[in-house]
Order: sequence, then structure tokens, then C-alpha cells
Amino acid sequence: MARWLVVGGGLAGTLAAEALWHAGETVVQRDAGLPSASRVAAGMFNPVSFRRVVEVWEAEEHRTVAAQVYARFERLLGGVYWHEVPVVRAFPNADYAAVWEARLAEGHAVSKWIERVDEPGGLSFAHGAGRVQGSGWVHVPALLDDWKALAQNQPERLAWESGSWQWSDGLPAGYDGLVDARGVGAVADLRQWGIQVNPNHGEVLTLRPGAWSHSFTLNANKWVLPQPDGRARLGATYAWGIEDDRIQQASQSELLAPFTTWGLFNSDDIEEHRAGLRPASPDRRPMVGKLSLRHPWYAVLNGLGTRGVLVGPRAAQDLARQLLTDVPQRDLTNPTRFRSFNEI
Ligand SMILES: Cc1cc2nc3c(=O)[nH]c(=O)nc-3n(C[C@H](O)[C@H](O)[C@H](O)COP(=O)(O)OP(=O)(O)OC[C@H]3O[C@@H](n4cnc5c(N)ncnc54)[C@H](O)[C@@H]3O)c2cc1C
Repeated sequence: MARWLVVGGGLAGTLAAEALWHAGETVVQRDAGLPSASRVAAGMFNPVSFRRVVEVWEAEEHRTVAAQVYARFERLLGGVYWHEVPVVRAFPNADYAAVWEARLAEGHAVSKWIERVDEPGGLSFAHGAGRVQGSGWVHVPALLDDWKALAQNQPERLAWESGSWQWSDGLPAGYDGLVDARGVGAVADLRQWGIQVNPNHGEVLTLRPGAWSHSFTLNANKWVLPQPDGRARLGATYAWGIEDDRIQQASQSELLAPFTTWGLFNSDDIEEHRAGLRPASPDRRPMVGKLSLRHPWYAVLNGLGTRGVLVGPRAAQDLARQLLTDVPQRDLTNPTRFRSFNEI
């Protein structure tokens, strides 16, 4: 059995650490306490892409593995992280409503997740609305806190340490391998390999208890997600070219605007406003596995992007399988797939 250093205490690092530990390996997880996207994320998963009304990439497979992995965390840690919550999509115009209808009529692959819905929760929308099942959210910060607490308690083969690591440190003494799961903290090091992790700036609001009392998520390009304590999360913005996690001035009105048509929220409803940097990959697929035979000890789990909660568990499962059994890396998530890849 090998001894692994997993660098990063966000969702990627935690999923990787758990997957290796679950497989019987010894794992030390190290985190520098830097800003983490996972601490800001609403944690939503949704098998449907609303832009084209199609399934997201390998929706069923990702959802199945995600449900299994988060259930394993729940059994281990005693928390409840996985919440199934339907999404109501307010159709933006008649053409969009027609696409939705056509998908249902032709039995398109997406039709197993979607249906039409009339006046959900008494709300009426000019062009109608549809509903998605199989969606929900994962309480990522609670999962990360509970996992960290377990690791700090030093159960067999698992430990936590505060600290930093970068490529120039190499493989620290006492380890057989290292998983680099630093999110945007890995941008500069991965650039040397010709791998781009692109920071995508995003912001989310927390609304006061009672501001949104429905039991579904409403998506009107921006979304509002109910929370068990009566609060709601409202998000999200997506911006390129902002390299720090500061709140942008215009974002509050951008986030609230789609809901003002129905007189739903205003700035008095906002309790909290947070921003973070998503580690995005150029082709929106994660980067999973080893980079080079010259550095066989080094593997990455990064590029979880906007859908880390859904794609992260299978990515971590693949990673562990590759590292422990030499199963070849999947073409679509192999970090060396980019034309810009450059072996160092
Ligand atoms: C506003 C917003 C909303 C989002 N909403 C959703 C959503 O609804 N659903 C969804 O699936 N995803 C969502 N995401 C995306 C999701 O947050 C990411 O996919 C995921 O959290 C990325 O996890 P990560 O572990 O790669 O990165 P992070 O969470 O950023 O973790 C990186 C960790 O690495 C550590 N680190 C960095 N550098 C070093 C170093 N040199 N040494 C040691 N440690 C280091 C940091 O301290 C940090 O803990 C959202 C993101 C944002 C910003």
C-alpha cells in the first residue's frame, strides 16, 4: 500500500483523498487555507443543460457515481449532504417553450429528466415553465468541514496538515505519490506543462429566511435555490478575466434582475454576498491523472469548473483506479489531451 500526499482541501482534494483512502491507501491531505471555490459554491447538480435543452455530459453515469460517493461520505461522517430538489425552468420565450415541447414529443434523451409544469407554486410565467427531476444540491462546505475534522482526528491511514506545496518542491520525502488538487492555485505550475486552468469568477447571494418559500429551485437564467434553514442561495455570475475573488460592483443588480419581473426579491433580502474562482478547463472536461512517465509520482485532479459536484466524484474514482491499478486514463479527461500540452 502506498502513501499519498493530496494537496488541496477543496472538493477536488477531498474527493481524491477519500477515493484513495477508501481503496485502502494511506493519505495525508495538505491545504494552504487559501480562498476556495468549494466554500462559495451553491453545490447544485442538474442533469439538464438549459441552454440547448439537452442532457449534460454523461449525466446518468455522473449522477449515479455522485449519489454513491456522497452517500459514502454521509455514512462515514454522519452528515446529510445530498439534497434532491427539482428545478423549475421559466421559459424565456415561445421558441424556447417549443424546443422543450419538441424534446418531450420526440422522446429525446433529455426527456427522461424533464416535464411541463403549470403555475408551479402558484407562479405564472408568460411563456410557461418546465420541471427537471434528478437535480438538487450538495452541502459542500459541511462535507469539507466534517471530512477535515475526521482527518484531523487521525483515523487509521488518514491525516490532515496545514501547509503549502508547489511543483518546485517535488515529491516530499516519505511519500510514494502526490495528487495536485489545488484548483486555481495550480494555474502557474500547470501552465509550464501547457495546461490551462482558467479562473472563472462567480458570485452567489444568500437571501434571508422566507424570501423564497418554495420547495423547488427557480431558474430564470439566474437561479434561486431553497435551503433547509429557510434561507435561499441566488446565483450565479460567470466572468472571465478577473483573477481575484473580490465582489464586483454590478453583480448584485445582475443577479436580482431576472426575478424583478415577478417582483420576487430586492436588495433588502440579501444577507450575504460571496465570490470565488472556479477552476475551469478549456473544453469543460476535468483534468484527471498522471502527466508524464518522467514524473510517475505526480497526478492532477483539476478543471472541475461549473459542475464540480456532479463530475468530481467520478473523476476522483477514475483517478484512484488509474493510480492503483494502472487502468489507462480516459481520453476525454486525460490532462495531456490538449494540443498545447508540453512535457517538462
Ligand atoms: C460562485 C460559484 C458558484 C458555484 N456553484 C456551483 C454549483 O452550484 N455546482 C457545482 O457543481 N459547482 C459550482 N461551483 C464550482 C465549484 O465550486 C468547483 O467546481 C469546485 O469547488 C472546485 O473545487 P477545487 O477543489 O478544484 O477548488 P477549490 O475549492 O478552489 O480548492 C482548492 C484548494 O487548494 C488549496 N490550495 C491552493 N493552492 C495551494 C497550495 N499551493 N498548497 C496547498 N494548498 C493549496 C486552497 O487552499 C483550496 O482549499 C461554483 C463556483 C463558484 C465560484
